[in-house]
Amino acid sequence: MVRMGRRAVLFGGLGVLAVAGIAARDEIERAWWLLPGVSKPRKEGELDHAGASWTSASPANWRMADRPDDYRVDRIVVHVTQGSFESSVDAFKNPWHKASAHYIVRQDGHVEQMVRELDIAFHAGNRSMNERSVGIEHEGFVDRPKDFTDEMYAASARLAADVCRRYGIPVDRRHILGHSEVPGADHTDPGSNWDWDRYIRMVGEALAATAA
Ligand SMILES: [Zn+2]
Repeated sequence: MVRMGRRAVLFGGLGVLAVAGIAARDEIERAWWLLPGVSKPRKEGELDHAGASWTSASPANWRMADRPDDYRVDRIVVHVTQGSFESSVDAFKNPWHKASAHYIVRQDGHVEQMVRELDIAFHAGNRSMNERSVGIEHEGFVDRPKDFTDEMYAASARLAADVCRRYGIPVDRRHILGHSEVPGADHTDPGSNWDWDRYIRMVGEALAATAA
């Protein structure tokens, strides 16, 4: 085995860029965290949405990334937990669960963030959709209309509007979709009791309110 020096390891990590002949200093600086073991600084408890609380999902349930620089974020996927808020938080903390979402919205309007938007949460059951989207869970059961409270719609709409504003995502049903609409999805959430017309209207209103 030939032992590589530090320089060789470094340029191995940047191989794609080196081959492409990209030597501009800013490109190298932009890419330094792509090296193994290096990541952009991130702090435990750091949040993307003002008003959210933070509980970290198990690192087994999401993948570190550097969105929107490495993956464009242009979708929001709406979910329903099929369980209580507490059981969903516990599931995302469990390294064997193999799934997570960026946010869980509780029936009283509380918002918990569990994965940074920089990173890829495993929520859509579709790799490319996970890479391009922010996943929002809602506490409740798809067949219980009363679970979808006014407080939940309002908090989720404010959250979705904030995401749309930060990434320039259009507020429409093409860009804000349900888990059941993800290509290849075998999930039925958020189901027929989720009021899409109301939700999209509220996201639009929340976005207009922050723009004003
Ligand atoms: Zn789902």
